[in-house]
Amino acid sequence: MASLKTNNKRDAKDVQEFRGQILSWYDKHARILPWRAEKGQKADPYHVWLSEIMLQQTTVGAVIPYFTKFLNKWPRIQDLAAAERDEIMSEWAGLGYYARARNLHKCAQVVTEELSGVFPQDEAALKALPGIGEYTSAAIAAIAFDRPATVVDGNIERIMARYFAVKDAVPGAKKILKSHAHYLSDGRKDRPGDYAQALMDIGASICTPRSPKCGLCPINQKCKAHKQGIEEELPAREKKLAKPQKFGFVYWVQDKQGRVLLHRRSEKGMLGGMIGLPTSKWVERKKKRGVEHPDYLDGVAFETKAASIHHSFTHFDLELALKRAISVSVLETQDNYFWCDKSELKTIGFPSLFSKAIRLGG
Ligand code: SF4
Repeated sequence: MASLKTNNKRDAKDVQEFRGQILSWYDKHARILPWRAEKGQKADPYHVWLSEIMLQQTTVGAVIPYFTKFLNKWPRIQDLAAAERDEIMSEWAGLGYYARARNLHKCAQVVTEELSGVFPQDEAALKALPGIGEYTSAAIAAIAFDRPATVVDGNIERIMARYFAVKDAVPGAKKILKSHAHYLSDGRKDRPGDYAQALMDIGASICTPRSPKCGLCPINQKCKAHKQGIEEELPAREKKLAKPQKFGFVYWVQDKQGRVLLHRRSEKGMLGGMIGLPTSKWVERKKKRGVEHPDYLDGVAFETKAASIHHSFTHFDLELALKRAISVSVLETQDNYFWCDKSELKTIGFPSLFSKAIRLGG
């Protein structure tokens, strides 16, 4: 990627100064996180990879208990590779973005079976693995292997937007923000892993989205947004379109023994591979009158009591109206549908959407 500025002596000095300030700050203030190596120790690539996959679209606070649980259960990548897919999906339940869990398992199997359990160090080779994209490959290369790499997450984007006073709105401005980050990290071998993690920590604790604590910031002397007093306005955001609203039915169907009908969702699509209650199709809200119950529920008499749950996904909001029924007529032979004792429901990891529906239905 081309840098925004030429690499003359002045620029090299600026980069050196910026990185020096960031690294000195990190030596005193680094967050203690369960996947981080202790000072002077080498990071464990398995820990770094697992944490980076979990951290995609998810906060550090939400990830810590999952990371700890996964490591206790599967201490080595070989253990994770040998695990049952269902068990991984169940342990992942509640963390969201379930394609990550499927890819996690696939990646563990590829690394174990084809690479003798050893992660590659090179960004391009990392990116070829299941579930590892541009950001994650750079983060693993830098943090696990101390390789020069341009790591740009949301925190780092925000720092770049403010430090260089980039007024163009994101997501359109992402490329220019990455170019600034690249300018500061291109080919730099001075502690690339610590540098990336330091920027993440500064973004999380000092250069926060609201009320940044510029007085505590190690780079406040040359931060252009701070000098101009516009730090709170950056990064500028393109106006968000209203989220689409969707509607469907969710079914709480019991048989005479009190067992509950469950459905394993298809691998592709929303909540792929996860177990939940059966649902109808989810359609645009304005077409809600046209939603039909699935054929296998033909003839089932539903209670008339009205109740519904609301759930927000990244790209749409969903309302599911709950339909309750006692039925013996539902075919057990339907692929991916099965009965489950009500008392066993608590042993299954359900996505949050279905946990809400089960609380309402049961
Ligand atoms: S000086 Fe303020 S706005 Fe600039 S990088 Fe530091 S915290 Fe962010």
